Amino acid sequence: MDLNSYAELAVRLVNTAGGGGEDGDRLVNLDGLRALVADREHLNMGVTRNDLDALRALRAEFRAFFVACAGGDGEDAAAQLNALLIQHPVHPQLSGHDGQPWHVHYRESGSVADKYAAGATMGLAVRLTDLGIERFGVCQAPGCLGVFIDVSSSNTRRYCSDRCMNRANVSAFRARKRGEDEADTKAPGATVLPGAPVAGQDPALDERAWHGAEASAVHRASLRVVRVEPPAPLHAARRALDDEQVGPAGVTGQHDLAGADAAGAPDQ
Ligand SMILES: [Zn+2]
Ligand SMILES: [Zn+2]
Repeated sequence: MDLNSYAELAVRLVNTAGGGGEDGDRLVNLDGLRALVADREHLNMGVTRNDLDALRALRAEFRAFFVACAGGDGEDAAAQLNALLIQHPVHPQLSGHDGQPWHVHYRESGSVADKYAAGATMGLAVRLTDLGIERFGVCQAPGCLGVFIDVSSSNTRRYCSDRCMNRANVSAFRARKRGEDEADTKAPGATVLPGAPVAGQDPALDERAWHGAEASAVHRASLRVVRVEPPAPLHAARRALDDEQVGPAGVTGQHDLAGADAAGAPDQ
């Protein structure tokens, strides 16, 4: 289980709620659910109505977690994630596949929804401890229910997608234009615009955030989000458990999914 890519599963699930308008809810039927897990081998082996219901409920819980993060409430965010970690456990397993030294894999079990929930929750916990809650945000585009994990160096990401960024820029431009037109009629020649310009965002910055290289995969033994100071002992533990250190080189963020030993399969 590559936990960074699993955190993206959480984002992907929340973002099926859509950005308003014609960009509506994409998780209303089994086809929507199949599309959600289509590229994940260990999840796309047959979905049910129960999976759909469970994941729609989980979507709301994940969004509440991102809202707590975006509000700067670390205690609330950690409490929500800890509750999810208890509800949706992963199972550490020793593995020595492909002649590698013994190392730990995290495995999910149960239904598609169970596996999705366990992987995504664990992924969020690891991402949270690596990046801090200020990197977890909610989309600022009007009407959008999307979220994101900001991996940009500037930590200035505001939108869940390029689509939302473009939409917001267009409406900000129109608002500015309206302001200008009003200024022209009321006070011709005025140089100060009455419409407050929306803070601009360099599209290149967001592009980097969206497509930026993910940090290398990290596995941790701890299943609870807690404040630790100093962090040294945790880092030592994670070093020893990190199977990516000895794993074959692969596509970043796809190790276990693309490799011969897909997480959660086939011994479930
Ligand atoms: Zn959005
Ligand atoms: Zn392995």
